[in-house]
Amino acid sequence: MKKDFRGFIQVYTGDGKGKTTAAVGLAVRALGAGLKVAFLQFFKPDTSSEVFILKQFEPKLLYKNFGGQKLIKGKVSEEIKEDILNGWNFVKELIKGGNYEVVILDEIFYALNWEIISISEFLEALKEKSQNTEVVLTGRKVPREVLEIADLVTEVRKIKHYFDKGVLARKGIEK
Ligand code: ATP
Ligand code: MG
Repeated sequence: MKKDFRGFIQVYTGDGKGKTTAAVGLAVRALGAGLKVAFLQFFKPDTSSEVFILKQFEPKLLYKNFGGQKLIKGKVSEEIKEDILNGWNFVKELIKGGNYEVVILDEIFYALNWEIISISEFLEALKEKSQNTEVVLTGRKVPREVLEIADLVTEVRKIKHYFDKGVLARKGIEK
């Protein structure tokens, strides 16, 4: 199957539940097929339950998180920005190198919307990515320019969510 592999750019976006869990599902499927997967999270600590399982697949799976430090008064600190930029430099090399068939960038869009990563540089890197690598981008508020270059875009739409009734993230279900 690897012979026919050609990597596309996928986007999972929208205001409903299911973006990160879809990415985790894809990671599991790809691992099951013997593909190498990089699961990289932005603006998130590594404390969500799936991370514990994904890490058990190392080194077939590479897990890293960038900018997962706590926001202070809702603000993105210089430390977080620097960490995100380090992450971005890491991603650029990773998707150019083609060593990983699936590279997931979970919750990447804030880095673009808040101009921590330059959108033109981001688009350029995606254009130059290895043919061997499928890139999966998740998050709300996908930039229009990213939609234009994506090969697949799935929008999950909220029809109902218990969060609106005050149910916060639960261990094993949302985190
Ligand atoms: P999941 O990780 O369950 O697949 P997701 O990746 O689609 O969800 P995110 O936008 O990353 O969703 O946000 C997840 C967090 O935001 C959850 O902890 C949840 O409690 C909270 N939340 C609030 N409103 C929503 C919504 N409409 N859809 C999903 N999560 C929501
Ligand atoms: Mg998510």
